[in-house]
Parts: sequence; structure tokens; C-alpha cells
Amino acid sequence: MATIRDQFLSEMCDALSTDRKLNSCDRDMQFFIEMQKKRVRDKGLWLDYDFTRGGTDSRGKEMPNVWEDGYYFAKMWMGSASYRLVLKKDGKVIYKKRKNVNVPIIVMDAIKGAPIGDDIYVCPNCAHPAKIKDLTQGCPYCDTKFKMDELYPKVTNFNMVRDYSDVLWDLVPWLIFGILAGVVAAVTLVVVMVCWLASGHQASDMAVAMFISAARLVVALPFIIVFGVFMVGFAVEMIKTVILLVTFSSHKYFEMEMKKYGQEYMSHFFMSKLVSKLKTVIFCDEPGELPFYTGGPLPAEMKDIVDIFFRGAVDYKKVFLEGNIAHVDADVYTEIVSEKNGRAKKRERIFHVRMMKNVDRPLKMTFSVTKFMCEGCGASFDATKNKHCPFCGSEYKVENEDWVIESIA
Ligand SMILES: [Zn+2]
Ligand SMILES: [Zn+2]
Repeated sequence: MATIRDQFLSEMCDALSTDRKLNSCDRDMQFFIEMQKKRVRDKGLWLDYDFTRGGTDSRGKEMPNVWEDGYYFAKMWMGSASYRLVLKKDGKVIYKKRKNVNVPIIVMDAIKGAPIGDDIYVCPNCAHPAKIKDLTQGCPYCDTKFKMDELYPKVTNFNMVRDYSDVLWDLVPWLIFGILAGVVAAVTLVVVMVCWLASGHQASDMAVAMFISAARLVVALPFIIVFGVFMVGFAVEMIKTVILLVTFSSHKYFEMEMKKYGQEYMSHFFMSKLVSKLKTVIFCDEPGELPFYTGGPLPAEMKDIVDIFFRGAVDYKKVFLEGNIAHVDADVYTEIVSEKNGRAKKRERIFHVRMMKNVDRPLKMTFSVTKFMCEGCGASFDATKNKHCPFCGSEYKVENEDWVIESIA
């Protein structure tokens, strides 16, 4: 798994700025990256990510919790990296940032020997959905033959969350400024005093004593100011972090509510999927065509968003049932970068999301919109391009197998 994480981070470095193929990701992930890339290009922008070694745990490790359904298992890999984002318009940098981040990725794999030959998989070469056993013998559409290790494991989700190990580095420029300001003040004072004495003035003891206390104060002042700025900045960061931590108490509530209906809830997997879907809907030009979004058109403000950075917290507000459909209101904490008329802006943004799921049906782990299987006729097709089954015409309901976003505000 270490290799797939490294491969993923390396591929992500070129994902948005080039047309490099993402071999480490499943089709849904590729689709979501495509949406963001299209948004960036349609706005005449150039966006590049870069990941290099850095942060508290750059080697990364597998997390202990595993989600499995007897055929497949999903694992989370967590590790840190130094991340850089550059946004350009007409060759000119209009926004950039660098920070240390934790990059949780979710990797799906097939359990050894599990009977999955009849499961549908999107051909990595021609993107037609076909049965796994057919793909291993030669895709019925393009004839490419795949080995199982070319189909699994695959990255199904990823996120970036701030790693606070570099916060002190953010303060270094302020420290340098403080020291320089102190030195400049000291030199100025000495020069003034020397000139004053040189012009024939006789310094009384009292004048010298006053001068020395004034000098001390002037030299110390920049340090005091910088230290103050330091402490305020630190306090603000702490308060922001505490606000995020408090949201985790709502996860227990959500988990208990879901348990009532026999639905499994695994915090990290759920958040990761939710954020990926949210990003896809926001980056998509026609979100109404997405099978996992039933809401109306999004406000114009969201059309200017070119990057969404998840701050690592989801606050579950309310769960209520209508028939067999559970609705959930959740707040997703993010930091967004938007661009309008060549000007880029970064700000914190909480998205208020309502989503739904049919709780009579279990959550299907391998559910994918790119290899949707029709309940009416059993045919499989790419649901990102069709709202109805192209074979029998019946409309499908994603909420029977996975969570659907109903609205975003
Ligand atoms: Zn093919
Ligand atoms: Zn059908």
C-alpha cells in the first residue's frame, strides 16, 4: 500500500495542470478530478498542486480501521506531506500557498479469492463497464487484458487536512522583522548619541541615564509588538482548532441515529466520501445531471470556486426520517479559493449540506456512478452521463445504495 500512496501523490502533482492519467485512482476519483480541471480551464486558469516530503509523518501509515463487506475491503492511509498550490492567469501567479498537510487516502482492494468475477468494473483502457472475469480475459470492447493487480487496489477518495507542524515556521518572518527593527532602532540611537556628543554637548549623568532608558524601550518595543502579534495569532489558531474539535461530539449522535436503522457509520470513510461528492457537485457545470445530486442550480458564487480545502471537520446537525429515507443536515468546514476577473481570494467557508439515504438498504461499498447497475434490467452503464438506464429506460435511485446530496448552501 505504501507504493500506491506514493504513486497517488506523485500523480496528483500533475493531475490538474496536465493530462497525465491517474492510474492509482478509481473512475469516480478520476471523474471528480476531471470536473475540477474543467472548472479551472474554463475560467482560463492554470492550477498546480505539488507534494513533497514534509510534515510530522511523511512516510505515512495504514490506519487500523478497515471497512469490509466480505468481497472488498477499504483501508485508510494517513501521512503528511508538504503541499504547494499555485494558481495562474495569463502566465501570472495570482495566488499561491504552501503548507504542511495530512493526506488521508482511502484505498479499496479485493479480498483474496473472493468471488467477484461477475462484478462490474470500468475498463481502465476504454472506460466501458464490463465484468471483471471478462476484463481479465480481454475487454469485450477494446480487447485489453488486465491482471487483477491492475484493477485493485485503487484510491477511491482523498483529502487534505492541515498539519500544524509548520505553524511555528509561519511566525519566523515576524521574528526576523522584530530583530531587524530592534537592530535598526539601536543603531539609530547610537548614531544620534555620538552626533550629539560630537557637536560639543556635555552629557550630564541624568541625560545619559534618561537616554539609556529611552534606548532600552525603543529597542524592546518591536519585540514586544511582535510577541503580541505572535500570541494573538496563536490564540486565534487555537480557538479555530477547538471549534473544529467540538464538532466531533456530533459524530456519536449521527452514529447512534444510523445504528437504529442498521446502517454502519465509519467517521473517516463517511467524511471523505461526503467531501468528494460535495466537491464534485460544486465543480460540475451542470450539477443537476449528476446522479448523486437532487438539488437545484447552485448560486453564482460557487461557480467561481476553483479549489476546496477540507478543514477536517463535519458537524452533524440533525437526522430525521421520512418513510424509509433518512435525511441528514451537516456542516462541512472548508477553506475555498475562488477567482473572479483575474483576482483570487481565499476564505473560510462552511457548506450546509442536506443528504439522504434509503435506510432499508445497506450501504454498498463498491457503489460507483461510473459503473451503475440497473435494477430493472441488470445492465451496467456510466451513470455520470445518463440519468436513465440507456437499455430499458428506467430511472434509477442512487439513494438505495449510497448517500445523495439534496442541497448545498
Ligand atoms: Zn476496454
Ligand atoms: Zn435498465
